Amino acid sequence: MTKPEHPVRLYDLDPDALRDQVAAWGQPAYRAGQLYQWLYQRLAIDPAEMSSLPAQLRALLAEEAQIELLAPAAENVSRDGHTTKTLFRLHDGQLIETVLMRYDRRNTVCISSQAGCAMGCTFCATAQMGLQRNLTPGEIVAQVLYFERWLRPITDPRSPVTGHRSRITNVVVMGMGEPLANYANLWQALRTLTDPAGFALGARKITVSTVGLIPGIDRFAEEDLQINLAVSLHAPNDALRATLVPIDRRYPIADLLAACRRYVARTHRRISFEYAMMAGINDSPGLAEELAARLQGLLCHVNLIPLNPVAGSPFQPSRREDVDAFVAILESRGIPTTLRVRRGIDIDAGCGQLRARVAQSTSIPLLS
Ligand code: SAH
Repeated sequence: MTKPEHPVRLYDLDPDALRDQVAAWGQPAYRAGQLYQWLYQRLAIDPAEMSSLPAQLRALLAEEAQIELLAPAAENVSRDGHTTKTLFRLHDGQLIETVLMRYDRRNTVCISSQAGCAMGCTFCATAQMGLQRNLTPGEIVAQVLYFERWLRPITDPRSPVTGHRSRITNVVVMGMGEPLANYANLWQALRTLTDPAGFALGARKITVSTVGLIPGIDRFAEEDLQINLAVSLHAPNDALRATLVPIDRRYPIADLLAACRRYVARTHRRISFEYAMMAGINDSPGLAEELAARLQGLLCHVNLIPLNPVAGSPFQPSRREDVDAFVAILESRGIPTTLRVRRGIDIDAGCGQLRARVAQSTSIPLLS
Protein backbone atom coordinates (compact mmCIF):
# COMPACT_ATOMS: atom_id res chain seq x y z
CA MET A 1 0.00 0.00 0.00
CA THR A 2 1.28 3.47 -0.80
CA LYS A 3 1.43 6.21 1.80
CA PRO A 4 -1.34 8.80 1.60
CA GLU A 5 -0.31 12.14 0.20
CA HIS A 6 -0.62 13.82 3.60
CA PRO A 7 0.37 11.35 6.29
CA VAL A 8 -0.56 12.30 9.84
CA ARG A 9 2.53 13.80 11.46
CA LEU A 10 2.37 12.22 14.88
CA TYR A 11 4.80 14.58 16.64
CA ASP A 12 2.62 17.53 15.67
CA LEU A 13 -0.43 16.20 17.52
CA ASP A 14 -1.09 17.27 21.09
CA PRO A 15 -2.70 14.67 23.41
CA ASP A 16 -6.25 15.78 22.45
CA ALA A 17 -5.52 15.64 18.74
CA LEU A 18 -3.84 12.26 19.18
CA ARG A 19 -6.96 10.96 20.97
CA ASP A 20 -9.18 12.27 18.15
CA GLN A 21 -6.96 10.64 15.55
CA VAL A 22 -6.93 7.32 17.37
CA ALA A 23 -10.73 7.54 17.71
CA ALA A 24 -10.96 8.23 13.96
CA TRP A 25 -9.03 4.99 13.44
CA GLY A 26 -11.75 3.24 15.46
CA GLN A 27 -9.58 2.61 18.53
CA PRO A 28 -10.36 3.22 22.20
CA ALA A 29 -8.98 6.36 23.85
CA TYR A 30 -6.45 4.55 26.05
CA ARG A 31 -4.57 3.52 22.91
CA ALA A 32 -3.72 7.19 22.39
CA GLY A 33 -2.03 7.21 25.80
CA GLN A 34 -0.02 4.14 24.85
CA LEU A 35 0.97 5.65 21.54
CA TYR A 36 2.03 8.86 23.29
CA GLN A 37 4.32 6.79 25.54
CA TRP A 38 5.86 5.05 22.56
CA LEU A 39 6.54 8.38 20.92
CA TYR A 40 8.00 10.39 23.80
CA GLN A 41 9.17 7.89 26.42
CA ARG A 42 10.27 4.90 24.39
CA LEU A 43 11.26 7.09 21.44
CA ALA A 44 9.91 4.61 18.95
CA ILE A 45 10.85 5.26 15.36
CA ASP A 46 8.67 2.62 13.74
CA PRO A 47 5.10 1.48 14.53
CA ALA A 48 6.34 -2.10 14.26
CA GLU A 49 8.13 -1.60 17.60
CA MET A 50 4.94 -0.66 19.42
CA SER A 51 4.32 -4.10 20.86
CA SER A 52 1.57 -3.04 23.26
CA LEU A 53 -0.61 -1.81 20.39
CA PRO A 54 -2.86 -4.14 18.41
CA ALA A 55 -1.64 -5.18 14.98
CA GLN A 56 -4.52 -3.35 13.33
CA LEU A 57 -3.50 -0.02 14.84
CA ARG A 58 0.16 -0.59 14.03
CA ALA A 59 -0.84 -1.23 10.43
CA LEU A 60 -2.89 1.99 10.34
CA LEU A 61 0.04 3.92 11.77
CA ALA A 62 2.37 2.45 9.19
CA GLU A 63 -0.03 3.33 6.37
CA GLU A 64 -1.40 6.68 7.38
CA ALA A 65 0.96 8.23 9.88
CA GLN A 66 4.53 9.33 10.06
CA ILE A 67 7.08 9.71 12.85
CA GLU A 68 9.07 12.54 11.40
CA LEU A 69 12.68 11.98 12.35
CA LEU A 70 15.01 14.85 11.62
CA ALA A 71 17.52 14.21 8.87
CA PRO A 72 21.02 15.48 9.68
CA ALA A 73 22.58 17.30 6.73
CA ALA A 74 25.85 18.16 8.49
CA GLU A 75 27.37 17.61 11.87
CA ASN A 76 30.34 19.26 13.57
CA VAL A 77 32.02 18.14 16.77
CA SER A 78 34.16 20.59 18.75
CA ARG A 79 37.83 19.78 19.28
CA ASP A 80 37.24 18.92 22.94
CA GLY A 81 34.43 16.57 21.90
CA HIS A 82 31.89 18.12 24.25
CA THR A 83 29.85 20.13 21.76
CA THR A 84 28.07 18.71 18.75
CA LYS A 85 26.25 20.89 16.32
CA THR A 86 23.87 19.36 13.83
CA LEU A 87 22.24 20.94 10.83
CA PHE A 88 18.92 19.33 9.96
CA ARG A 89 17.19 19.44 6.61
CA LEU A 90 13.42 19.60 7.08
CA HIS A 91 10.97 17.93 4.68
CA ASP A 92 10.60 21.15 2.69
CA GLY A 93 14.35 21.73 2.42
CA GLN A 94 14.64 24.28 5.23
CA LEU A 95 17.81 24.03 7.30
CA ILE A 96 17.83 24.43 11.07
CA GLU A 97 20.54 24.03 13.68
CA THR A 98 20.61 22.21 17.00
CA VAL A 99 23.53 22.02 19.43
CA LEU A 100 24.27 19.48 22.16
CA MET A 101 26.63 20.60 24.92
CA ARG A 102 27.94 18.04 27.37
CA TYR A 103 29.61 19.82 30.28
CA ASP A 104 29.47 19.75 34.07
CA ARG A 105 27.43 16.53 34.09
CA ARG A 106 24.77 18.28 32.10
CA ASN A 107 23.56 17.41 28.65
CA THR A 108 22.07 20.62 27.36
CA VAL A 109 20.44 20.81 23.96
CA CYS A 110 20.02 24.20 22.28
CA ILE A 111 17.07 24.09 19.90
CA SER A 112 15.68 26.27 17.13
CA SER A 113 12.13 27.61 17.09
CA GLN A 114 11.99 29.00 13.53
CA ALA A 115 13.81 28.46 10.25
CA GLY A 116 15.52 31.83 10.02
CA CYS A 117 14.39 34.84 12.00
CA ALA A 118 12.62 38.12 11.32
CA MET A 119 14.20 40.12 14.15
CA GLY A 120 17.23 41.37 12.21
CA CYS A 121 19.74 41.66 15.08
CA THR A 122 22.80 43.13 13.41
CA PHE A 123 25.40 40.81 15.01
CA CYS A 124 23.47 37.55 14.47
CA ALA A 125 24.10 35.11 11.61
CA THR A 126 20.52 33.81 11.55
CA ALA A 127 19.20 37.32 10.96
CA GLN A 128 20.96 37.41 7.59
CA MET A 129 18.66 34.73 6.18
CA GLY A 130 15.40 36.41 7.22
CA LEU A 131 12.40 34.44 8.40
CA GLN A 132 11.66 31.38 6.30
CA ARG A 133 8.91 29.86 8.44
CA ASN A 134 7.83 28.79 11.90
CA LEU A 135 8.78 25.32 13.05
CA THR A 136 5.90 23.02 13.91
CA PRO A 137 5.56 21.67 17.46
CA GLY A 138 6.84 18.32 16.20
CA GLU A 139 9.91 19.86 14.59
CA ILE A 140 10.75 21.62 17.85
CA VAL A 141 10.34 18.46 19.95
CA ALA A 142 12.13 16.26 17.41
CA GLN A 143 15.38 18.22 17.93
CA VAL A 144 15.41 17.18 21.58
CA LEU A 145 14.43 13.60 20.77
CA TYR A 146 17.24 13.33 18.20
CA PHE A 147 19.90 13.98 20.81
CA GLU A 148 18.11 11.96 23.47
CA ARG A 149 18.30 8.97 21.12
CA TRP A 150 21.93 9.74 20.55
CA LEU A 151 22.64 9.71 24.29
CA ARG A 152 20.58 6.68 25.25
CA PRO A 153 22.47 3.53 24.42
CA ILE A 154 19.46 1.49 23.41
CA THR A 155 20.07 -1.19 20.85
CA ASP A 156 16.77 -3.00 21.02
CA PRO A 157 14.01 -0.49 21.71
CA ARG A 158 11.64 -3.27 22.77
CA SER A 159 13.81 -4.36 25.67
CA PRO A 160 13.67 -2.48 28.95
CA VAL A 161 16.57 -0.08 29.23
CA THR A 162 19.22 -1.38 31.57
CA GLY A 163 22.52 -0.15 32.88
CA HIS A 164 23.92 3.32 32.44
CA ARG A 165 22.22 5.76 30.19
CA SER A 166 22.74 9.39 29.66
CA ARG A 167 19.85 11.73 29.09
CA ILE A 168 19.12 15.26 28.06
CA THR A 169 19.11 17.22 31.33
CA ASN A 170 18.47 20.76 30.06
CA VAL A 171 16.88 22.43 27.06
CA VAL A 172 17.55 26.01 25.98
CA VAL A 173 15.50 27.59 23.20
CA MET A 174 18.41 29.71 22.00
CA GLY A 175 18.95 28.39 18.50
CA MET A 176 17.58 29.92 15.32
CA GLY A 177 14.49 32.06 15.51
CA GLU A 178 12.49 34.11 17.96
CA PRO A 179 10.55 31.63 20.10
CA LEU A 180 7.89 34.09 21.27
CA ALA A 181 7.10 34.90 17.63
CA ASN A 182 6.07 31.23 17.27
CA TYR A 183 4.24 31.14 20.57
CA ALA A 184 1.56 28.49 20.11
CA ASN A 185 3.85 25.92 18.49
CA LEU A 186 6.56 26.59 21.05
CA TRP A 187 4.18 26.02 23.94
CA GLN A 188 2.74 22.85 22.48
CA ALA A 189 6.32 21.56 22.22
CA LEU A 190 7.16 22.66 25.77
CA ARG A 191 4.07 20.87 27.07
CA THR A 192 5.09 17.63 25.39
CA LEU A 193 8.64 17.96 26.69
CA THR A 194 7.51 18.57 30.28
CA ASP A 195 4.43 16.30 30.34
CA PRO A 196 5.05 13.56 32.94
CA ALA A 197 3.33 11.18 30.51
CA GLY A 198 5.47 12.51 27.66
CA PHE A 199 9.16 13.37 27.63
CA ALA A 200 8.94 14.29 31.35
CA LEU A 201 11.70 16.89 31.56
CA GLY A 202 11.33 19.29 34.50
CA ALA A 203 10.07 22.72 33.44
CA ARG A 204 12.82 24.34 35.51
CA LYS A 205 15.37 22.63 33.28
CA ILE A 206 14.12 24.58 30.28
CA THR A 207 14.99 28.17 29.33
CA VAL A 208 13.38 30.20 26.57
CA SER A 209 15.33 33.19 25.25
CA THR A 210 13.51 36.15 23.69
CA VAL A 211 14.68 39.25 21.89
CA GLY A 212 12.16 41.10 24.08
CA LEU A 213 8.66 40.78 22.60
CA ILE A 214 6.59 42.36 25.38
CA PRO A 215 3.19 40.76 24.61
CA GLY A 216 4.90 37.35 24.58
CA ILE A 217 6.61 38.03 27.91
CA ASP A 218 3.28 38.97 29.47
CA ARG A 219 1.71 35.80 28.12
CA PHE A 220 4.66 33.74 29.31
CA ALA A 221 4.19 35.11 32.84
CA GLU A 222 0.67 33.66 32.91
CA GLU A 223 1.66 30.12 31.91
CA ASP A 224 1.39 27.39 34.50
CA LEU A 225 4.80 25.81 33.76
CA GLN A 226 7.88 27.05 35.59
CA ILE A 227 9.97 27.48 32.48
CA ASN A 228 12.83 30.00 32.75
CA LEU A 229 12.87 33.16 30.71
CA ALA A 230 15.95 34.91 29.31
CA VAL A 231 15.85 38.30 27.60
CA SER A 232 18.48 39.43 25.09
CA LEU A 233 19.35 42.92 26.23
CA HIS A 234 22.84 43.60 24.81
CA ALA A 235 22.72 47.32 25.70
CA PRO A 236 21.42 49.48 28.57
CA ASN A 237 19.92 52.33 26.49
CA ASP A 238 17.72 52.59 23.42
CA ALA A 239 20.15 54.67 21.35
CA LEU A 240 22.65 51.80 21.38
CA ARG A 241 20.25 48.87 21.62
CA ALA A 242 18.28 49.94 18.56
CA THR A 243 21.46 49.66 16.47
CA LEU A 244 21.96 46.06 17.61
CA VAL A 245 18.41 44.83 18.16
CA PRO A 246 16.06 46.70 15.78
CA ILE A 247 12.90 45.53 17.59
CA ASP A 248 13.98 47.90 20.37
CA ARG A 249 12.26 50.67 18.42
CA ARG A 250 8.95 48.94 18.90
CA TYR A 251 9.62 47.68 22.44
CA PRO A 252 11.99 50.17 24.09
CA ILE A 253 14.01 49.24 27.16
CA ALA A 254 11.85 51.05 29.73
CA ASP A 255 8.76 49.15 28.56
CA LEU A 256 10.71 45.92 28.25
CA LEU A 257 12.09 46.14 31.77
CA ALA A 258 8.62 47.03 33.06
CA ALA A 259 7.37 43.78 31.46
CA CYS A 260 10.28 41.93 33.08
CA ARG A 261 9.31 43.36 36.46
CA ARG A 262 5.70 42.26 35.91
CA TYR A 263 6.99 38.79 35.02
CA VAL A 264 9.03 38.55 38.22
CA ALA A 265 6.17 39.92 40.34
CA ARG A 266 3.78 37.36 38.85
CA THR A 267 6.05 34.29 38.85
CA HIS A 268 8.59 35.05 41.60
CA ARG A 269 11.17 33.64 39.24
CA ARG A 270 14.51 35.19 38.47
CA ILE A 271 14.86 36.49 34.93
CA SER A 272 18.12 36.24 32.95
CA PHE A 273 19.51 38.94 30.70
CA GLU A 274 21.84 38.04 27.88
CA TYR A 275 24.47 40.52 26.86
CA ALA A 276 26.84 39.66 24.00
CA MET A 277 30.11 41.51 24.60
CA MET A 278 31.23 43.41 21.47
CA ALA A 279 34.54 45.24 21.41
CA GLY A 280 34.15 49.00 21.51
CA ILE A 281 30.38 48.75 21.06
CA ASN A 282 28.69 47.83 24.34
CA ASP A 283 31.56 46.92 26.68
CA SER A 284 32.65 50.20 28.32
CA PRO A 285 32.67 50.78 32.10
CA GLY A 286 30.12 53.57 31.64
CA LEU A 287 27.67 51.18 29.99
CA ALA A 288 28.22 48.66 32.80
CA GLU A 289 27.24 51.37 35.30
CA GLU A 290 24.19 52.27 33.23
CA LEU A 291 23.14 48.63 33.00
CA ALA A 292 23.55 48.10 36.73
CA ALA A 293 21.44 51.19 37.44
CA ARG A 294 18.63 50.01 35.17
CA LEU A 295 18.50 46.54 36.70
CA GLN A 296 18.53 47.66 40.35
CA GLY A 297 15.88 45.94 42.46
CA LEU A 298 14.96 43.44 39.74
CA LEU A 299 15.31 39.73 40.59
CA CYS A 300 17.68 38.95 37.74
CA HIS A 301 20.95 37.53 36.55
CA VAL A 302 23.17 38.81 33.76
CA ASN A 303 24.80 36.35 31.37
CA LEU A 304 27.67 37.93 29.51
CA ILE A 305 28.32 36.06 26.26
CA PRO A 306 31.57 36.57 24.36
CA LEU A 307 30.48 37.48 20.84
CA ASN A 308 30.85 34.72 18.28
CA PRO A 309 32.30 36.55 15.28
CA VAL A 310 30.07 36.21 12.21
CA ALA A 311 31.64 36.18 8.75
CA GLY A 312 31.17 39.50 6.99
CA SER A 313 30.18 41.27 10.21
CA PRO A 314 32.18 44.17 11.67
CA PHE A 315 31.51 43.14 15.27
CA GLN A 316 34.36 41.62 17.24
CA PRO A 317 34.44 39.98 20.68
CA SER A 318 35.46 42.19 23.58
CA ARG A 319 38.96 42.02 25.00
CA ARG A 320 39.33 39.95 28.13
CA GLU A 321 40.28 42.91 30.34
CA ASP A 322 37.22 44.87 29.23
CA VAL A 323 34.99 41.89 29.99
CA ASP A 324 36.57 41.48 33.43
CA ALA A 325 36.08 45.17 34.21
CA PHE A 326 32.44 44.96 33.07
CA VAL A 327 31.81 41.96 35.33
CA ALA A 328 33.48 43.69 38.28
CA ILE A 329 31.27 46.77 37.95
CA LEU A 330 28.04 44.76 37.72
CA GLU A 331 28.99 42.64 40.71
CA SER A 332 30.05 45.65 42.77
CA ARG A 333 26.55 47.04 42.13
CA GLY A 334 24.96 43.82 43.35
CA ILE A 335 23.95 42.41 39.96
CA PRO A 336 24.65 38.66 39.83
CA THR A 337 26.69 38.10 36.68
CA THR A 338 28.06 35.07 34.88
CA LEU A 339 30.58 35.13 32.11
CA ARG A 340 29.59 32.34 29.76
CA VAL A 341 32.41 30.24 28.43
CA ARG A 342 32.53 30.29 24.69
CA ARG A 343 31.73 26.78 23.64
CA GLY A 344 31.90 25.41 20.19
CA ILE A 345 33.61 28.48 18.75
CA ASP A 346 35.58 26.14 16.50
CA ILE A 347 32.42 24.57 15.10
CA ASP A 348 30.43 27.65 14.15
CA ALA A 349 28.17 27.00 17.12
CA GLY A 350 26.90 30.58 17.24
CA CYS A 351 23.32 31.10 16.18
CA GLY A 352 22.92 30.47 12.45
CA GLN A 353 26.58 30.07 11.71
CA LEU A 354 26.76 26.47 10.54
CA ARG A 355 23.83 26.95 8.20
CA ALA A 356 25.45 30.06 6.79
CA ARG A 357 28.69 28.25 6.09
CA VAL A 358 27.00 25.21 4.58
CA ALA A 359 24.75 27.38 2.45
CA GLN A 360 27.83 29.16 1.09
CA SER A 361 29.79 26.05 0.22
CA THR A 362 28.80 23.98 -2.75
CA SER A 363 28.98 20.64 -0.99
CA ILE A 364 27.40 19.71 2.30
CA PRO A 365 29.99 18.44 4.81
CA LEU A 366 29.38 14.79 5.59
CA LEU A 367 28.58 13.45 9.01
CA SER A 368 31.63 12.62 11.05
N1 SAH B 1 15.64 35.16 19.34
C1 SAH B 1 16.05 34.78 20.66
C2 SAH B 1 16.90 33.52 20.72
C3 SAH B 1 17.97 33.39 19.73
S1 SAH B 1 19.67 33.47 19.95
C4 SAH B 1 16.77 35.91 21.33
O1 SAH B 1 17.01 36.91 20.69
O2 SAH B 1 17.04 35.80 22.51
C5 SAH B 1 20.19 33.25 21.57
C6 SAH B 1 21.14 34.33 22.02
O3 SAH B 1 22.33 34.38 21.21
C7 SAH B 1 20.54 35.72 21.97
O4 SAH B 1 20.86 36.41 23.15
C8 SAH B 1 21.24 36.33 20.78
O5 SAH B 1 21.22 37.73 20.84
C9 SAH B 1 22.62 35.73 20.92
N2 SAH B 1 23.46 35.83 19.72
C10 SAH B 1 23.10 35.90 18.43
N3 SAH B 1 24.18 36.00 17.64
C11 SAH B 1 25.26 35.97 18.44
C12 SAH B 1 26.66 36.05 18.22
N4 SAH B 1 27.16 36.16 17.00
N5 SAH B 1 27.47 36.00 19.30
C13 SAH B 1 26.96 35.87 20.54
N6 SAH B 1 25.65 35.81 20.82
C14 SAH B 1 24.80 35.87 19.77
